[in-house]
Amino acid sequence: MEAASLEAVKKINLYDLSLEELTALVVGWGQPAYRARQVAEWLYKHKVSSVEQMTNLPRALRDRLAAETRIGALERVGEQLSTDGQTVKRLFRLPDDQLIESVLMEYDDGRRTACISTQAGCAMGCVFCATGQMGFSRHLTSGEIVEQVVTFARQLEQAGDRLSNVVLMGMGEPLHNYENTLKAIRRLSDPAELGIGQRHITLSTVGLVPAIRRFADEGLQAGLAVSLHAATDEERSKLLPVNRRYPILEVMDAVRYYVARTGRRVTFEWALIRGENDTLEQARRLGQLLTGLLCHVNLIPLNPTGGYGGAPSDPERVAAFQAELKRHRVSSTVRVRRGIDIQAGCGQLKAEIARHSRSKRQPEGMVDAP
Ligand code: SAH
Ligand code: SF4
Repeated sequence: MEAASLEAVKKINLYDLSLEELTALVVGWGQPAYRARQVAEWLYKHKVSSVEQMTNLPRALRDRLAAETRIGALERVGEQLSTDGQTVKRLFRLPDDQLIESVLMEYDDGRRTACISTQAGCAMGCVFCATGQMGFSRHLTSGEIVEQVVTFARQLEQAGDRLSNVVLMGMGEPLHNYENTLKAIRRLSDPAELGIGQRHITLSTVGLVPAIRRFADEGLQAGLAVSLHAATDEERSKLLPVNRRYPILEVMDAVRYYVARTGRRVTFEWALIRGENDTLEQARRLGQLLTGLLCHVNLIPLNPTGGYGGAPSDPERVAAFQAELKRHRVSSTVRVRRGIDIQAGCGQLKAEIARHSRSKRQPEGMVDAP
């Protein structure tokens, strides 16, 4: 790493600080506490990228902030726009050269959803997932999680639009990085910070049972999505190694606890893999598992990844699977291969760029953004 960037790493990333921590910092510098609120307003309401833009702060405070802190840690190193122009994926480099992805999805009904990463890589090793195939590098700091949202929100606001939703469904397992993820959710939703309603924030987990219970006890209104992908332990353990530690019935108990505590509907994610988990038998067992639970199932035909030989299910299989769920009165949606489906394979841009730089081939369905 170059000397200049090493210097930057040592500086405090302002996005890493809660309002209390920011207050402690400025008060420690002999400034009144209200200055912290002003700084937060510049960071999260005006979304400035330099201290010089914080024009209502005294010169001495601006100089100290410039010397000892930095605004953000992400460097944008790649971007792809889907052919319909409604999905953009970004690749960011962190100060220690880790790469992470974020996705912005625009929907016709006006929703603007940011899909963000919580870790560089992932330790959970789900066999079909591009991120899982990379292995785990490190947890992201809360500021690195928050900044992904700030960059999309800033871009939308400059175009007269606004970000409406955030899903923690990018690279990594959010509940494995519990503390920083929770700090980030609080900063995203605090009206004095980004002010995105908790009901518009959804966390997706592979099913870490103790952490789901802890999350349920936080008193938040954030949504929960659980990656199920199979309805028998034998099948699920083949796809998601973490199932050996937290089998399906334990996951379901924790989910019921979450629903009881929060009153919120849970989403289950199911990547349909041809001849693997798309059988009527799996659909029937899933129906039995979920009947009577306040929930919804997202059926996502698999996005093929380099390290896994599976293929997406055929449309007739998908329809039959969904019909079987309906017989059990379980609601479901089939997600087409865009938006949430492209990001469902988050980690693929990083993998693609590595491949792409070798072959110069354009990833399927994606064109370079201007
Ligand atoms: N670690 C969390 C959140 C990130 S993954 C989790 O696993 O839930 C977000 C979603 O994408 C998960 O449901 C995951 O199973 C799914 N996913 C990963 N790779 C995929 C692929 N190749 N095709 C379809 N869905 C995939
Ligand atoms: Fe990690 Fe989620 Fe990918 Fe599994 S699906 S390896 S938990 S990011």
